[in-house]
Amino acid sequence: MAAHPEKKLAEERKHQNMQNNIKASQGQWGRAWEVDWFSLASILFLLMFAPLIVYYFIMSCAQYQCSLTDPLLDLLTGNKHLSDIWNRTPMLTYQAAGIYCLWVTFQVFLYMFIPDFCHKFLPGYVGGVQEGAVTPAGVVNKYEINGLQAWIITHVLWFANASCFHFFSPTIIFDNWIPLLWCANILGYAVSTFAMIKGYFFPTNAKDCKFTGNFFYDYMMGIEFNPRIGKWFDFKLFFNGRPGIVAWTLINLSFAAKQQELYGEVTNSMILVNVLQGIYVLDFFWNEAWYLKTIDICHDHFGWYLGWGDCVWLPYLYTLQGLYLVYHPVQLCTAHAVGVLLLGLLGYYIFRTTNHQKDLFRRTNGNCRIWGKKPQHIECSYTSVDGTKYYSKLMTSGFWGWARHFNYTGDLMGSLAYCLACGFEHLLPYFYIIYMTILLTHRCIRDEHRCSSKYGKDWKRYTAAVPYRLLPGIF
Ligand code: NDP
Repeated sequence: MAAHPEKKLAEERKHQNMQNNIKASQGQWGRAWEVDWFSLASILFLLMFAPLIVYYFIMSCAQYQCSLTDPLLDLLTGNKHLSDIWNRTPMLTYQAAGIYCLWVTFQVFLYMFIPDFCHKFLPGYVGGVQEGAVTPAGVVNKYEINGLQAWIITHVLWFANASCFHFFSPTIIFDNWIPLLWCANILGYAVSTFAMIKGYFFPTNAKDCKFTGNFFYDYMMGIEFNPRIGKWFDFKLFFNGRPGIVAWTLINLSFAAKQQELYGEVTNSMILVNVLQGIYVLDFFWNEAWYLKTIDICHDHFGWYLGWGDCVWLPYLYTLQGLYLVYHPVQLCTAHAVGVLLLGLLGYYIFRTTNHQKDLFRRTNGNCRIWGKKPQHIECSYTSVDGTKYYSKLMTSGFWGWARHFNYTGDLMGSLAYCLACGFEHLLPYFYIIYMTILLTHRCIRDEHRCSSKYGKDWKRYTAAVPYRLLPGIF
């Protein structure tokens, strides 16, 4: 049957756009091809010290009531030796290994074997098979988006156990926190090493691999863009979302259960941390399809940075507030609690709305309404390595007219709220906002550097129209 002429034309345009995107993408993103000394030094520093930093934070809670300075003072004054601290650190246990294996296997099972059903009954939710962005080699991967479902099933089982079955105590995660840290490290290193070997010997897509020739850089930043096992097991999507982010809310619940066990009540600060971080996690899974288009999936290769980071850094350091509150149960006065809640909700609102505005603008090519009006934008163009010219648009309306990365500002406001929920006695719960500020400021500069070389003088026009990065009038 002959295709309808308009439909055929639309298909041809779609095909042409796809070809353009493919061409445009080649050579324009991903990890660096050459490693400068600063990057190498940073990478060596992180490879050596990131696992120690995580250990130091967790150990300081377990042995020093979450004081970051006391362990150092003890060591510097000779009051304690490294061996004293190490000897008091719980080792890997069979129980923790069993729990961890079961946990990861269960998440693999949910990811691989239960196709998404949430999109069939949740209006507005985008799940099931979805396409990612075009890779530098021109591949469009398909993903089974079923993270929300995995999160719901896992949490229903958790609550069913806590309220009815009592197979295990809800404090199980807290009670095995350090032995589980060793398991998470083993998985983090194993998966990063496997990804490196796989990149060399059996990559999923050889054209999407990057070899800089520097072993440490390749190990850290990854060789393969989208390593997969079989058609569906995607390393990036699995390790970033599950077991790390599904675990985030369970870890917080376990910390709350421990407070209940130790003090006979759960403080309002613990409830705030659980609720605000729970909203952030749920948002991530509700928008998992959108996440396929973010920098993590569209630009980053899979190496130790993502593999180890998702297994260890994220579940251990993003949950420091809940851990701290087990050792220091803070009951906030009403004004403080309401202030934290409002800051957290406002941050979340800005974060979500800003991301949504850009998504809508790009999806509709500007044919939409932002705050009730047709969005304003700057027409921009860029040229790919083969000299072909392409056109794009940078929105200057809505939150994108206030600052060039107001989505990061919202994220930072939410992050600050989690920390403020812990009171002002210790520095440890504030690590998160310090880390997020460094991460997002660096990300903002990195992204703008890329956009500036991509759009040239058009990017200058855009920065003149929207002069601030994160805080209007300040930065
Ligand atoms: P963004 O969603 O901000 O995407 C940046 C890209 O958007 C640019 O490279 C450019 O791409 C395009 N763009 C920039 N300005 C405009 C504009 N005015 N109009 C239209 N398009 C524009 O970046 P991320 O992927 O880093 O962040 C996504 C979210 O994830 C953020 O909210 C962030 O806070 C969050 N995040 C959270 C982390 C955590 O650990 N909790 C870690 C990292 C991110 P193009 O080349 O297409 O023009």
